[in-house]
Amino acid sequence: MINKSLIALSLIVISGCGQNFSEGSQAYDFDQISTFDYTLDKSIQDKLESKVDSVLNPANLDKWMKHMSSKPHHGGSPWSKQNAEYAANLFKEWGYESSIETFEVMLPYPKIMKLSLVSPSKISFKLDEPPVKGDKTTAITKDLLMPYNAFSADGNITAELVFVNYGIPADYIELKRMGIDVKGKIVIAKYGGSWRGIKPKVAYENGAIGCIMYSDPKDDGYFQGDVYPKGAYRNENGVQRGSVLDMPLYPGDPLTPGYGAKGDVERLSIEEAPTIMKIPVMPISYANALPILKALSGPVAPASWRGGLPITYHIGPGPAKVNMHLEFDWQLRTVHNPVGKIVGTKYPDEWIMRGNHHDGWAASAADPISGMVSLMEEARGIGELLKTGWRPKRTLIYAGWDIEEPGLLGSTEWVEYHLKDIKDKMVAYINTDGTGVGFLGVGGSHSLEKLVNEVTSVVMDPVHKVTLQERNRARLRISNNADSERKDLRIYPLGAGSDYTAFIHHAGISSLNLGFGGESGGGSYHSIYDSYEHYTRFSDGDFIYGVTLAKVNSRLVLRLSESEILPFRFTNMSDNIQTFIESNKKLVKQIKDDTETRNRLLDQNSYTIASNPKIAYDAPERLSTVPDFNFSDLESAYKQLLSSAWKYEKSIKSNRVGNLSQKDKVLINKLLRDVEKSMTLDKGLPRRPWFKNMIYAPGFYTGYGVKTLPGIREGLEQRNWDEVSDYITEVSNALTRASMKIEKATDIINK
Ligand SMILES: [Zn+2]
Repeated sequence: MINKSLIALSLIVISGCGQNFSEGSQAYDFDQISTFDYTLDKSIQDKLESKVDSVLNPANLDKWMKHMSSKPHHGGSPWSKQNAEYAANLFKEWGYESSIETFEVMLPYPKIMKLSLVSPSKISFKLDEPPVKGDKTTAITKDLLMPYNAFSADGNITAELVFVNYGIPADYIELKRMGIDVKGKIVIAKYGGSWRGIKPKVAYENGAIGCIMYSDPKDDGYFQGDVYPKGAYRNENGVQRGSVLDMPLYPGDPLTPGYGAKGDVERLSIEEAPTIMKIPVMPISYANALPILKALSGPVAPASWRGGLPITYHIGPGPAKVNMHLEFDWQLRTVHNPVGKIVGTKYPDEWIMRGNHHDGWAASAADPISGMVSLMEEARGIGELLKTGWRPKRTLIYAGWDIEEPGLLGSTEWVEYHLKDIKDKMVAYINTDGTGVGFLGVGGSHSLEKLVNEVTSVVMDPVHKVTLQERNRARLRISNNADSERKDLRIYPLGAGSDYTAFIHHAGISSLNLGFGGESGGGSYHSIYDSYEHYTRFSDGDFIYGVTLAKVNSRLVLRLSESEILPFRFTNMSDNIQTFIESNKKLVKQIKDDTETRNRLLDQNSYTIASNPKIAYDAPERLSTVPDFNFSDLESAYKQLLSSAWKYEKSIKSNRVGNLSQKDKVLINKLLRDVEKSMTLDKGLPRRPWFKNMIYAPGFYTGYGVKTLPGIREGLEQRNWDEVSDYITEVSNALTRASMKIEKATDIINK
């Protein structure tokens, strides 16, 4: 369910320093580190990697996409099950142990979806998306679901409407200043500005009884470019489907929080499930939003709220009044996760996992089949190595996740069900989702940043014929980014939005997420217009970037599987963690400054004196004083981490590594892969114990967007001062635990 606009933003980078570290008289150079030192035979590895490259064939991606996206394949549909079997059979054909693992999860389908304007005039809206000329997939109606938001509440409600911009917390602060209350009203919000599930959640918290979301043409419609079928952008009838499950609380099956939804396990009732939305929510097109927004009066919306429709945007409330009538079937449905496995010869209990979801909202070629077919070609490439008699040292697992779109159900249930084995055995999880053309975006655990850069500095961009890293660097240079000359380009920290979530945030497994984007453009996201025809006309039509993604991921997998000592690099990790600490400290300063400014302006009565007497606009609220926070424990813990990371670098470069026994290597590798887990905390984050990673989390009020050192950052943003101090301690302890793991590994090498 990755949104392309997020991939485009993925190269935004936080500036940092601390690239070298001196201990005693010797200074070590950050740029000299390589994951090849003594732990991986470069000539053997090169042969494996180029053998995979040589068999990759874009025609396979094309053929599989055509097949898999030929019919609607949302979770629980016949074609989704067919696609799972299709992938499982191919895994088997390529030499993998193959199976389909199932779970039984709550997944409601729409039964009744009705929307009408009841005053000042009467309109009953047509809510489906009509077919377009030249794209026969868009004419398929068999097994196609009405556009809907999964996990909306049932309801038949009539109320006045209020336009709330993107419907995020900041918009409600503005509404309050305008004297507008949404209590008892239905709100209409634009898509964008946050993950969609935040909008109804915040609407409900503010007393609204229903929520309508629409795609404004300014965001992904005619304002951006020609609309489909002429161009790639959203036409007036395109609707963005999508989940509104409260995933920042916990993703996956809402009825089985924290455990696998297998067989007849105990399930919460729908009323008890805290992640199911409490009010009715529905998505509509801009053709339908236009007459509704036009019928609003009240204050004119602030300039930054206005979209691209040919109207003056008013806020309301009313006189526009709408009726929403939604009913869902609230059924348990079956997850089908195809899983292919090759058991490792030397370290069978160390697992490298790849995954991409296979379910979509309709025919869904870009999201997710484009990524799924790249994963399949990569798996086939590795299968070709098996034919030569080669076997990986570690166990490789390839999965196609089902029911991702409604809330990461297939992957989350898999992780929860296998949690003990995953914690014991999994080395890394590498995720892909929809992919397109342009720049390689990479997010993930910063202990893998070095490895990622080693791979992106050898794989070539298929159009520009420079390395992927060089192309990304050129873009950073043009935007004058402070890190454009850093040897390793930074990878972005992971929030949520795809199947890595349960791995990194719940189980504490080092994870990556990769995909091409930035030049695909378009507005077919989660509509019936995300089709094979649309993808091949406007995105990676010759599948060369899909093949390039397979080259990148097969290298990551093979280097993780073949390195005698796992290729984690904690110098990179420490350097990034330092930027997270610094940005949290900056946030403290900014909140203090903003608080003082606000309160001074209130003392001077400036808001009132400067206001336009013809427009009702209240002064903002006075803010409580921000206390001083003590970051010194966190800074010492960071220094210890940095020191441990460099001592480890020094030892791994020594020739002692070549003489380690297999038993020692197993011990070292266990310690290395436990570093990420050691930075999790069982009690988790405030009010959401499912999220256990102390370094990264999706924002409670942003959804997809990441929060680094989330316990501290969200405490600051939400002004919960006690939590800030509490989590400064928890993060310090997490860094100390990580240092101890690294030091133990170093001790074994040096003994
Ligand atoms: Zn997706």
